[in-house]
Amino acid sequence: MPFPKINLHIHSNYSDGKQTINQIVDKAIKLELDYIAITDHFTNSWKAWFSTLNNNETISKYLEELSSCQRYLINSNNHLRLLEGLEVDLASTEKFIKDFIQLDKFDLILFEYLQSYETVAFLKNILNCWKKSINNFPILGLAHFDPSFFAYGNLDPLMNFLKEYNIYFEFNSNYPSFYSRKYELFFGKLKEYQIPVAIGCDSHRTSNLIDIEEPFEMIKYYNLEKNFEILLKSLKSLKIV
Ligand SMILES: [Zn+2]
Repeated sequence: MPFPKINLHIHSNYSDGKQTINQIVDKAIKLELDYIAITDHFTNSWKAWFSTLNNNETISKYLEELSSCQRYLINSNNHLRLLEGLEVDLASTEKFIKDFIQLDKFDLILFEYLQSYETVAFLKNILNCWKKSINNFPILGLAHFDPSFFAYGNLDPLMNFLKEYNIYFEFNSNYPSFYSRKYELFFGKLKEYQIPVAIGCDSHRTSNLIDIEEPFEMIKYYNLEKNFEILLKSLKSLKIV
């Protein structure tokens, strides 16, 4: 593969993943991945039981553990880079999201369940609030975005939104039906608007940490290599630790 090996969507036992952060990092080193992001669930919706990250104490502990792994990787001259991430459920309340997420502590924020223009407005409102308090956003992405919710309507407002806030689209090995040819028009729009695309495996166990071949084939199939390169550029310019 000519591109770096990346998996930007991994869960640890801070939410519904089976392994600890250390076990994930060890396995990623063995698999010779280049970039991984640990993105545990953050939610106060009906899925709240999924995650321990619902108070300042556990969030700080999570971030400390991730930072110490980042330092270990750098100090041991490992080529693997670890991003401190979070997967934010957009069915959570606005107050919960604003109260507990300190944006400057994260390298990557994924949003899940962007399924309507109402949710786009909800997210836009939060992003605009964050914009007032922080100069540099972390990398932002959509987790397992399902094109069927938007595919048959006007796609331009969605694309303008993604473009404006530099939010990437994720090819996720767990959801092959989202990348069907029936959404060709949607993928054409991603290309036209130069929306960054990334790869995430939604790994809940280390056994699928490197299921990145199929998403990468999809990126090639829809001629989105340039979009992938935009994402790789932001990864390379990230200041980790
Ligand atoms: Zn996930």
